[in-house]
Amino acid sequence: MFAKQARTRMTEIRVFAGGPFGENTYLVFDADSKAGVLVDPGAVTPSALSEVERLEVELEAVLLTHAHLDHIEGLAAVRRVSPAPIHLHPADRPIYDAVTDHAAVFGVSVERPPPPDVNLAHGQTVTFAGSDWEVRHAPGHAPGHVVFYSEAHEVCLAGDVVFAGSIGRSDLPGGDFRTLMASIRREILSLPDGTRLLTGHGPETTVGHERRTNPFLVPQYGGEMV
Ligand SMILES: [Zn+2]
Ligand SMILES: [Zn+2]
Repeated sequence: MFAKQARTRMTEIRVFAGGPFGENTYLVFDADSKAGVLVDPGAVTPSALSEVERLEVELEAVLLTHAHLDHIEGLAAVRRVSPAPIHLHPADRPIYDAVTDHAAVFGVSVERPPPPDVNLAHGQTVTFAGSDWEVRHAPGHAPGHVVFYSEAHEVCLAGDVVFAGSIGRSDLPGGDFRTLMASIRREILSLPDGTRLLTGHGPETTVGHERRTNPFLVPQYGGEMV
């Protein structure tokens, strides 16, 4: 299940990928204190929770980039083993509350998640896993989509805003293409080129690599909108 394991100073980040949507669930934890967070617990949550137990990580929080079902379908399982508060931007609350309906549309069933505990806001800094993470509101794929940026670790947990060689869908409810492109310009391309982008689907990339090569972001393919 592990696609990758990386070490950044004392903070470790592990990715668990799988499920019908190929969603990436991240476990970020401090190697010394074992304080950690789960980001976007999806279909692979059982594997992530096994690793949490094996490593004796103490979950401090669950951070959600947005509330699409593939990013939150593991929440009920997380809550059964941990009271870690669930953090969500309030603009995605309607999507969150309708997750079982959305699942039915896709022909899958999802356990209803517990209500979110904490509202995220643009510009705030959350401190988890021994690190500071800046919350950056990046709507367009989903109205309450945020990314989490650690300047110290040069990492951005980017959800479904931008991918290696692609961008997030903007045709889902609450999505908007121009809003998404503006978000990418404002909240992603403003980060240093060396920043790792850990995305909601697919392999990790960097801001610089996407700035130079992403067909949606380079000028000849309409990148002038960026
Ligand atoms: Zn999504
Ligand atoms: Zn997704």
